Amino acid sequence: MECLICRGAVQREDLEFCGVIICEHCEGKMMHLSAEEPEYEAFVSALRGMWQRRFQASRDRRLKDGDQL
Ligand SMILES: [Zn+2]
Repeated sequence: MECLICRGAVQREDLEFCGVIICEHCEGKMMHLSAEEPEYEAFVSALRGMWQRRFQASRDRRLKDGDQL
């Protein structure tokens, strides 16, 4: 698995977050970012892009709720 944010390798699947993997480093960073910080936008847009892809994929494939991509 690779981290959605930094594309680093992630071994621990317990850091799955809304169906995507975010490494410990990025997760910690995300928790402490405030909306005024420039990095916040990068996180938000990464997550937004992920959600759009996921939504389209689930719509296209008609995945049932709970299915993992
Ligand atoms: Zn990361």
